[in-house]
Amino acid sequence: MVEYNIDEIRGEFPILSRTIGGKPLVYLDNTATSQTPRSVVEAIDSGYLDFKANVHRGVHTLSQEATELQEECRRRVRDYIGASSVEEVIFTRGTTEAINLVASSFGSLFPKDGEIILTVMEHHANIVPWQLLQSRRPDLKIKVVDINDKGELLLEQYRSLFNNHTCMASFCHVSNVLGTINPVKEMIAYAHSKGVPVLVDGAQAIPHMHVDVKDLDCDFYAFSSHKMYGPTGIGVLYGKKEHLLRMPPYQGGGEMIAHVSFEGTTFAELPFKFEAGTPDFVGIGAFPKALDFIDEIGIEKIAGHEHELMEYAEAKMMEIPGMRIFGNAPDKSAVISFLVGDIHHYDMGMLLDKLGVEVRTGHHCAQPLMQRLGISGTVRASFAAYNTKEEVDAFIAALNRVIPILS
Ligand code: PMP
Repeated sequence: MVEYNIDEIRGEFPILSRTIGGKPLVYLDNTATSQTPRSVVEAIDSGYLDFKANVHRGVHTLSQEATELQEECRRRVRDYIGASSVEEVIFTRGTTEAINLVASSFGSLFPKDGEIILTVMEHHANIVPWQLLQSRRPDLKIKVVDINDKGELLLEQYRSLFNNHTCMASFCHVSNVLGTINPVKEMIAYAHSKGVPVLVDGAQAIPHMHVDVKDLDCDFYAFSSHKMYGPTGIGVLYGKKEHLLRMPPYQGGGEMIAHVSFEGTTFAELPFKFEAGTPDFVGIGAFPKALDFIDEIGIEKIAGHEHELMEYAEAKMMEIPGMRIFGNAPDKSAVISFLVGDIHHYDMGMLLDKLGVEVRTGHHCAQPLMQRLGISGTVRASFAAYNTKEEVDAFIAALNRVIPILS
């Protein structure tokens, strides 16, 4: 195993050496988006400077090179997540678009009076697309799994929600607020035992753990590149081929057709049937560099490092009077959502920023979860491969400076 060389890792991220208001940057908003290593930025540069031509449309060399870069990425993603074929790897704008695609297209096949199971810890991206479907199909019902005090899903309740009408279950692999790692493999197996397909929102899981879609046996898996050191504006929907073949196109336009006439149009083969219009081929071409970055360190090593930082931070935070941490599941990813006394999360975030500490505040696009917890929002610190114990110390020191001011 390679050593965890934090200096070398940080050296790949020029942004980490900048200052905020004269203070060294302590970037702890990795759940919202991670920073991008130089290798990815250089690949984006090269995509524009050396390779730019539209994909799949040209016979000329540049277009073929750009196409090859994009399709190389598709093969890389297939291998990275353990998909069976490139036909199962659809490029999207991100997790949000991937889930919208499934809700809109797969959802159009749902039987009358179908029921969709979600959980109370979902990001809005895994709630609103299903509600939009429901607004077109008022016969559909949405059922919601609750959590316990530690922030774990109530699995018995989950199982009890299934009946003959259940047509879909959709839940996050890891909560972006609580950090809870859900037992998705077990949940998928249960859904399948009832003949119900499952979408897993992997946005917060895949940057921190090995994901094998075949091992999970999920029907769909959605994730975003920008949370895993990759370019913004691209993401992936993995879908089992048997579903994708049955699903109607999500959007119409170029790239996704076989033949167009005013008498009728036929659609392209998978995966292109779901990729209407010009994709962010420059971003897609650069994405493999982000996967290389993760692989070169090793995802288990990254997760171990992040976990150590989280435990170190949580232990220090719990020494602070009035500290409440939301999400205490034993199986937890490197996210700490918290409040101190009755200090408003927004005020806390503003003052921490003055000390160079960048954390997220608010509802984190999980308003139903906030409602469940009886709060309007939290402060959230989250960790990535490049964070350090010294940064945790700076964060704790900053907390200890701002709390007396705000109390
Ligand atoms: N699901 C979860 C669990 C998330 O954390 C996020 C991003 N915060 C999303 C979905 C949406 O991701 P994106 O904005 O990249 O589409």
